[in-house]
Amino acid sequence: MGRIVVVSTGGTIASRWQGAGYAAEAHGSDVLAAAALPEGVTTQVIDLFTLNSSRLTTAHQLTLLRTVHGVLADPDVDGVVVTHGTDTLEESAFLLDLHHHDPRPVVFTGAQQPLDTPDGDAAGNLHDALLTAATVRDLGVVVVFDRSVYAARGTVKTQTLAADAFGDPSGPPVGEVGFGRVRVRRRPERPAALGLPELDSSLPRVDMVMHHCDADALMLETAVEAGAQGVVLVATGAGNATPEVAEAVARATSRGVLVALTTRVAAGPVTPLYTGGGAVDLIAAGATPTGTLRAGQARIAVLAAAMASPEAAGRAEALRRILGAPALAPAGH
Ligand code: ASP
Repeated sequence: MGRIVVVSTGGTIASRWQGAGYAAEAHGSDVLAAAALPEGVTTQVIDLFTLNSSRLTTAHQLTLLRTVHGVLADPDVDGVVVTHGTDTLEESAFLLDLHHHDPRPVVFTGAQQPLDTPDGDAAGNLHDALLTAATVRDLGVVVVFDRSVYAARGTVKTQTLAADAFGDPSGPPVGEVGFGRVRVRRRPERPAALGLPELDSSLPRVDMVMHHCDADALMLETAVEAGAQGVVLVATGAGNATPEVAEAVARATSRGVLVALTTRVAAGPVTPLYTGGGAVDLIAAGATPTGTLRAGQARIAVLAAAMASPEAAGRAEALRRILGAPALAPAGH
């Protein structure tokens, strides 16, 4: 049915007890040995990292991106499975999705229970990911977990411990796995793929600042002073903060810093409804609303935009394109 390359990066699906807690330890071949292979599927394993995913850096994620592109350069490969820690899976999956332009799927999966747990979820998730990688086309990068198939874009970790660890709080899954089949219910909307970032380009710093009662602009200003080329403002409600934060956003964007506006709320879009420091003023100050993307993926959107162009205008345009926002009219129109 298909030749699938499994790229192993660590996470709980590769974790074992270390005497004082779990950590990624197992190699990809051990991880794969836990799963029953779907009929007709052959596999090849690439051991890329053995890391808890909270330790991943942009450099790791770009290595993963280039590795997957290298794998897909082989026309005899039918699909890719990436095993990944669940903590930051949504970030790596979205980064790869933004750069993915191939009908063949890249399927991210992981587990909430460590590898050797007798009734754990590693084996089932991996089997379903392999089946999905071997059978679906034109879905981009997807996350397969607990029998559901999710588009990378919009999907977040929603449970710290439970087996149904992922979901898109603002939309339905793209499909499900059961009885040896993958049923695709909808095709995710995806913007045109970005080109691969230059190998020698320096890695932009992109910070996140959460708004809360009593918050001032200090954290945002400190991020800019620290050299951030992008800041994600995790605002309250539909995207609100204070007049002081809006002024700091205006100062940051006037220096060419990308500011993306998302929300602490679990579901629903950022929407310009309120002034007095609300989303109306933050957007007027140059912040780009991120729709229904939550903080981790909003940060990936900014990171990808910052890597897409050396110039401020090009970066801002790339961010709007990634977020599906209409292009800005040229000056004078
Ligand atoms: N700590 C793990 C990680 O690497 C959690 C997991 O994989 O479920 O993200």
